[in-house]
Amino acid sequence: MAPKKLAAGNWKMNGLTASLAELDAIAARENGCDVLICPPATLITAAVAHSGEVAIGGQDCHAAESGAHTGDVSAAMLRDAGASHVILGHSERRTDHGETDGQVAQKAIAAHEAGLVTVICIGETEAQRDGGQTLDVIATQLAGSVPDCATAANTVIAYEPVWAIGTGRTPTNDQIAEVHALIRETLAARFSDGNDVTLLYGGSVKPGNAGEIFDIPHVNGALVGGASLKAGDFGPIIDALA
Ligand code: PGA
Repeated sequence: MAPKKLAAGNWKMNGLTASLAELDAIAARENGCDVLICPPATLITAAVAHSGEVAIGGQDCHAAESGAHTGDVSAAMLRDAGASHVILGHSERRTDHGETDGQVAQKAIAAHEAGLVTVICIGETEAQRDGGQTLDVIATQLAGSVPDCATAANTVIAYEPVWAIGTGRTPTNDQIAEVHALIRETLAARFSDGNDVTLLYGGSVKPGNAGEIFDIPHVNGALVGGASLKAGDFGPIIDALA
């Protein structure tokens, strides 16, 4: 099995009911590869009714199945609402909520138990890249955030350099290739199906750079923030991958 191609959109804290028109437009296209949209939790149930072949995911989940955790959402709740995926360990969660690798792994275990596919995010900060620590940071995050129960069927890894998210800056193709090769090597050494895990690049992907990024070895798709909010931007990115 080769890794499946995946175009994933992360709407972050954007989107009201009217935004589902953008999802309608994506669902109405001939997409030619797997497409995932992760709207805010408030829109998941409504999004599922608009999604057609497009998969719907959450942007985070709690590691517990239920209980006294005001404001949190469990993996079972996401599944119950019709989601099939969940993004975990996004750098905005790690920064805004202090999430650690260990917590991300616990959430991933809960998500897998609930039947969700996890999109686990890792990536270095600008200071770490400037300090020559990128590959060490990636290896540490990968070891700590990806649980032993991960398989090619239930896990996607997204490499998102923190300094490239929402900034319009992207790494060079060689920099992306170097990190993706390390991720592939590490997964292949740890998991029997590690060569089949879908690896995404994320950080300022847009219609103008998507084709070039998708040509890089071991890049099997993208996790797209800003450019996933409008079908007119996300559509051409999907076409560049398919
Ligand atoms: P961006 O965000 O495409 O807006 O840079 C990517 C992400 O954070 O997933």
